[in-house]
Amino acid sequence: MTKILDGKTLRDLIIDELQEKVKNLKVKPGLAVLLIGNDPASEVYVKNKILTCHKIGFYSEQIFLSADTSKEEIFFHLKRLNKSKKIHGILVQYPLPKKLSHLESEINRFIDPQKDVDCFHPINVGKMFLSKDNNDKIFFPCTPKGIIRLLKHYQVDVTGKKAVVVGRSSLVGKPAALMLCNEGATVTIAHSKTKNLFEITKEADILVVAIGKKQFIKKGGVKKGAVVIDVGINQDGEKIFGDVDFEEIKTVAAAITPVPGGIGPMTIAALMENLFLAFERL
Ligand code: NDP
Repeated sequence: MTKILDGKTLRDLIIDELQEKVKNLKVKPGLAVLLIGNDPASEVYVKNKILTCHKIGFYSEQIFLSADTSKEEIFFHLKRLNKSKKIHGILVQYPLPKKLSHLESEINRFIDPQKDVDCFHPINVGKMFLSKDNNDKIFFPCTPKGIIRLLKHYQVDVTGKKAVVVGRSSLVGKPAALMLCNEGATVTIAHSKTKNLFEITKEADILVVAIGKKQFIKKGGVKKGAVVIDVGINQDGEKIFGDVDFEEIKTVAAAITPVPGGIGPMTIAALMENLFLAFERL
């Protein structure tokens, strides 16, 4: 029987743990989320993050700015949030509107590294790169952190295993590869220029797919008994699909994450843990 790696249940356990930790605190951990423009998917992500904060008992602020907001206005808010005693974590929901996308790297550098719960600031990226232990008290990016958390919860033994990560973004693929390496896996990173991709994915004991292409990986690209982590979120009409063909792969994999209900909820849980870490350190 293929095991379903259920991210919702683990997220709820993490929420319970955090609720317990904050319930007697006078000052609560505080998250500020800045959303620029009106991308519908981003609006949903922000709503979920804020709702989770409420559920745990964290303080939160949402700042909505229009797509034609000025650079000055964005940095005015970030400056205020960097100084705010109520705010321990700041995130700007990406992607930015096209007209403002050139500001991304400046925004990442401007957010106080101590409050950078998404782990986008070069200082935090550097710390992560230098870390050999995923238990270090530093920020790890939320999606890869969520992946490792889920693997550990289901006692998937990563040490000495062959892991293949498909996708090399700074947000997911690269840090996921680094964190799997920290866990003792032998890691291959594949991407759009990779030749004979499915021959490589078929070698994987642990296959992580983060490419943003609906049901791209089929049964033929997966080894029997592999553990498959599907990061993809691909909206098609009312439905959301992953990057792997869940129904097909279920028949060969030992374990698989569903979409939705796998890495999505784990990403939010990891964000909440990063916020608590920021709170403890500030
Ligand atoms: P990016 O677009 O930044 O990166 C996609 C990566 O996939 C690139 O490295 C690209 O290669 C690679 N790729 C694209 N097409 C192929 C292909 N045909 N074969 C092999 N590799 C390919 O995406 P992200 O990493 O930000 O996100 C990936 C997916 O994960 C998206 O669906 C996104 O929505 C989802 N996501 C889900 C999260 C969650 O909470 N569950 C959080 C973050 C993202 P190259 O570099 O060569 O172009």
